[in-house]
Amino acid sequence: MSQHIIQSPGKSKKANLDNYDLFREKFRWEQVRHKLDGLPGGGLNLAYEAVDRHVQHGHGETIAIRWLGKKGGQIDLTYQDLSIQSNRFANVLDMLKLQKADRIFVLTGRIPELYITALGTWKYGATFCPLFSAFGPEPVYQRLDIGGGKVIVTTKAYYKNKVKPSWDKLPNLEYVILTDVEENVDDRILSWKWLMSDASDNYHIPETGEEDMAILHFTSGTTGKPKGAIHVHKAVFVHYMTGKYVLDMHPGDIYWCTADPGWVTGTSYGILAPLVHGITNIIDEKDFDAERWYTILEEQKVNIWYTAPTAIRMLMRVGIEPLEHYDLSNLRLVYSVGEPLNPEAVHWGRDHLDLTINDNWWQTETGGIMISNYASMPVKPGSMGKPIPGIEAAIINKTGSDKVEIIKDSDVVGQLALKPGWPSMFRGYLHNEDRYNASFVDGWYVSGDLARKDADGYFWFVGRADDIIKTAGHMVGPFEVESVLMEHDAVAEVGVIGVPDPVIGEMVKAFIVLHDGFEPTEDLKLSLTGLARKRLGSAVAPKEIEFKENLPKTRSGKVMRRLLKARELGEDEGDTSTLESES
Ligand code: ATP
Ligand code: MG
Repeated sequence: MSQHIIQSPGKSKKANLDNYDLFREKFRWEQVRHKLDGLPGGGLNLAYEAVDRHVQHGHGETIAIRWLGKKGGQIDLTYQDLSIQSNRFANVLDMLKLQKADRIFVLTGRIPELYITALGTWKYGATFCPLFSAFGPEPVYQRLDIGGGKVIVTTKAYYKNKVKPSWDKLPNLEYVILTDVEENVDDRILSWKWLMSDASDNYHIPETGEEDMAILHFTSGTTGKPKGAIHVHKAVFVHYMTGKYVLDMHPGDIYWCTADPGWVTGTSYGILAPLVHGITNIIDEKDFDAERWYTILEEQKVNIWYTAPTAIRMLMRVGIEPLEHYDLSNLRLVYSVGEPLNPEAVHWGRDHLDLTINDNWWQTETGGIMISNYASMPVKPGSMGKPIPGIEAAIINKTGSDKVEIIKDSDVVGQLALKPGWPSMFRGYLHNEDRYNASFVDGWYVSGDLARKDADGYFWFVGRADDIIKTAGHMVGPFEVESVLMEHDAVAEVGVIGVPDPVIGEMVKAFIVLHDGFEPTEDLKLSLTGLARKRLGSAVAPKEIEFKENLPKTRSGKVMRRLLKARELGEDEGDTSTLESES
């Protein structure tokens, strides 16, 4: 059993959730309604909760967003500024005579206009759909097509390379708004600056209902073609709840989420949760850069940091000693999501940040954190923690097309399932009702991930159902094999797959990226296999190891095991629209 560790004493403020079991017993989602304001004229609106209500409560001067430009420079937007700017953008949508049902896309990178577009779109009652700026023309086209985008806010260069080539095939797309031109190009290619300068500062938010569509978010495409998950204004209940009781936001906190709004963490936790809590949200335009990141943590006096395992592994890899070179004394809490967080990474956090990295689990479909570790609860390295209050999670087996059985015994692997009904649950996959319906079986939302629950109620990720390896009668989750290999000094990254084998069903194969300074030798392979055999037994240890310069990953940083497998087997690679450049 892994060693339990807890937050360093003295670093945490009194946690908002100080007794998990007690809080969980008492908590009901409807209580959150009283913590939110609701629209003055009735209804619920994400942007009102995130921005305007803080102005109403006298906090207009607090910095809402501190934006750090990739070429230097900083822009501070107070809650008052954001309120006015988003009012203007809502007025722009009105001026363009858009409908509430319209979908407003953004393809800009992390610049202030993205955040203003999101908030203005919600105020108007339309749907916000963010895209990764690094997507090529085909993925941009696919998503605009599925989403029926009416407007896209983008830059001159992205328009020219990624939107213009397919505009002919996008009959719904009426307007392109360019953030970096001074004047309108023609009557459909418009200038952000021109439109915004002409728009009024005042906007009356029309009534939006809790169930009105607000966000269309595409999944990461790790297992196949990305799906467009629909979220509604009521999701703000979960942003509020998890911001307060999981991420432990307190008034005055400075918070930084490194995710891009092109995937759901960057919206739920890179825009909404911190703003709903009226704290200061740091946004860095630049992508990963170890020294820059440590400098931001130090200079911006970040208190709460939400990042991802890939980023943590990269920090581990560069070998800078953060505590020696940077003052991270303001940093109170670190969280991670998106991929399994290897125990090795948690131990690294203890040793090199003097903090516990709190893993949590959720999906685009869940709209918010569902299972997590908490500031006040002991952490078992390698575990995702426990379901948030208000969420019932179980390990189940499908016993038929419409029947499941709940696995009561601890430590038995099964499908990770959630009881539907939480406020930020997706309300559909756009234009794919069958797929949506297929996610719900016998009163459960079946996540597609395999996990187990231990006797203390902690959940442990095993793997995606699609990635699970069946070898010599064993079900092997790639995560457990990867985590053991990560313990080896030479290993920077690892992806494990099953390769069909006539005798044992599937053979476990590991693809390994080495730390600088290590040579890919046969001796090293032996040493790695030895470690895996010792820790996992010979049935589960990889039978084959291949060294690689890089692993294929999604742009949100997830190892695409299905691609490792397709390449190994010489099969079709399928949808690679979210694949990060591998050079
Ligand atoms: P697609 O559904 O298109 O294949 P995706 O599932 O990667 O892509 P996301 O919704 O961004 O799209 O990711 C959710 C998935 O990420 C989860 O289902 C799980 O497999 C993985 N994940 C997220 N957090 C964790 C975690 N803490 N530990 C392990 N896996 C995680
Ligand atoms: Mg998924």
